[in-house]
Amino acid sequence: RSAAAADSVSGRVRVAVRLRPRNTEELVADADFADCVDLQQELKRLKLRKNNWDSDTFEFDEVLTEFASQKRVYEVVAKPVVESVLEGYNGTVMAYGQTGTGKTYTLGRLGDEDTSARGIMVRAMEDILANISPETDSISVSFLQLYMESIQDLLNPANDNISIVEDQKTGDVSLPGVTVCEIRDQQSFIQLLRLGEAHRIAANTKLNTESSRSHAFLMVHVKKSVVDRDEFCLEAQNRSIGNLRPPILRKGKLIVVDLAGSERIHKSGSEGHMLEEAKSINLSLSALGKCINALAENSPHVPVRDSKLTRLLKDSFGGTSRTSLVITIGPSPRHRAETASTIMFGQRAM
Ligand code: ADP
Ligand code: MG
Repeated sequence: RSAAAADSVSGRVRVAVRLRPRNTEELVADADFADCVDLQQELKRLKLRKNNWDSDTFEFDEVLTEFASQKRVYEVVAKPVVESVLEGYNGTVMAYGQTGTGKTYTLGRLGDEDTSARGIMVRAMEDILANISPETDSISVSFLQLYMESIQDLLNPANDNISIVEDQKTGDVSLPGVTVCEIRDQQSFIQLLRLGEAHRIAANTKLNTESSRSHAFLMVHVKKSVVDRDEFCLEAQNRSIGNLRPPILRKGKLIVVDLAGSERIHKSGSEGHMLEEAKSINLSLSALGKCINALAENSPHVPVRDSKLTRLLKDSFGGTSRTSLVITIGPSPRHRAETASTIMFGQRAM
């Protein structure tokens, strides 16, 4: 790894905003009203309407309009992270936004009926599979849900209280007992995602909650062996081929996080379990916000202790890790306040 490569992956968080198109209801009911936002893809700017005459302007690393294809979204949001994972770094792709704005569409769509609809998880795996050699390299995945500070294994639902362990020396995060599946092809990966999703629905029915109230994590470990070219030439010149050094092993980890819906539950409207749930989500999302701000400011101290969400991501918050955040928003003027709060989360991460 060159110093330049290490430099280019340090510090900052990349933030993209993605607008979903109006749904049928919004097309009909809000036909007389303009969208609450106006996106300028080329200028990488977003305007949030204040009233008929005035708007606030925000800049992002990428601006993805309702016409952006899944392919383009993958390329700008996730591909650079996947590339660095293949080079042996850790990387995270997260989607943040109000329920119904397209987080799962962006990250988790399987696209069985139409491969152009495939989301980031499937496309990332496609890229990884295309860049490893099955004889020497390996890919393994785990799929988890974090709900009310408890971690459940979506590949083995009986395993519903997983703990987070940190290596004292390296700081690496591990999850003892979690199911880890070897992936050899795209089909088996898609089946695994489908199984995990089914388990997620079943678990949430049992917990009497909805998928939008928990965070879902896909973890992909890539082990890739590479022969250092320069070293190869040198060795080949000076010694017999039999004395070549063993290839270098590169270990990278990709985490894709479909975050719980960021909407604030009105204080008067929720009580008991619902209130506890809302508090837990707010706590974890604000802890995440603080960590991302620290990363964006290149602060040496990233406050990961406050929630399991951030503790899970701890070894992906280091100097050589890449983080990409896509904030998802809807166009409806009715959700302007939530949209504004999502935009502010994204702005603070830059
Ligand atoms: P979230 O996971 O944030 O709650 P979803 O991904 O489930 O939201 O999206 C809500 C609805 O909007 C779904 O019916 C989804 O198919 C649709 N949708 C989201 N984003 C897009 C998009 N970019 N293009 C077309 N439909 C979308
Ligand atoms: Mg969702």
